Amino acid sequence: MNDISIDNILNRIEQFCKDRNWDQFHTPKELAIGAVTEAAELLDLFRFLSDQQIEDMLTDENGRAKIGQELADILYFLLRFSQLYGFDLLEEVDKKMSINEAKYPVKLSRDCNLKYNELTEK
Ligand SMILES: [Mg+2]
Repeated sequence: MNDISIDNILNRIEQFCKDRNWDQFHTPKELAIGAVTEAAELLDLFRFLSDQQIEDMLTDENGRAKIGQELADILYFLLRFSQLYGFDLLEEVDKKMSINEAKYPVKLSRDCNLKYNELTEK
């Protein structure tokens, strides 16, 4: 499928949920729980694995499929939330990146993994 876009996926998700009459279950709280639960499922794939084992997983077809499915599950809940409650997800990410760029100036944060409120002049 070469014509995959956010709009196409949103339409597909909307139809999928409409066909199953799931709007009634998709409160903000339930969708947030879904997103976090799916993020936990992604994390669970890495549980007790070394960094090397995780790198190996990323080059293994089966491992990549499992990771991809959890990423998709997370995105599904984020897209569904944005769809039902009127958020333009791409616009929100764009706005947040501007905030992040201000919080993490390159000069202070390059090669540094400290949180923005811990950054100091080098
Ligand atoms: Mg899942």
